[in-house]
Amino acid sequence: MGSFPPSRGGFCPLLLFSCFAFIVSKGKDLFMAKCEVCGNEYDKVMEITWEGEKHVFDSFECAIKALAPKCEHCGVTIIGHGVESDSSFFCCAHCAHEEGVTAAVDRA
Ligand SMILES: [Zn+2]
Ligand SMILES: [Zn+2]
Repeated sequence: MGSFPPSRGGFCPLLLFSCFAFIVSKGKDLFMAKCEVCGNEYDKVMEITWEGEKHVFDSFECAIKALAPKCEHCGVTIIGHGVESDSSFFCCAHCAHEEGVTAAVDRA
């Protein structure tokens, strides 16, 4: 740290910087949101509208934990397409068959 460079023509970089820092810190507060699963406050949250309701998460993992359906047969969390029958979700056609849903076919 040497001597601070003298301001030229009334321009004060330090004042400008503190002003900028103030705006940035205020703006950050406005965009901060809390993950509804783990409670983490984060400025890059994701918003997911699920069945008409808006949800806020800080990560895919939290979103999956809150929203992903579980296989009715084996309990696996369904992150891919899975198999849906009426109101039941299955991870694959095999699990659907095990629960008596014979119409389910894997299209993979
Ligand atoms: Zn979270
Ligand atoms: Zn399953």
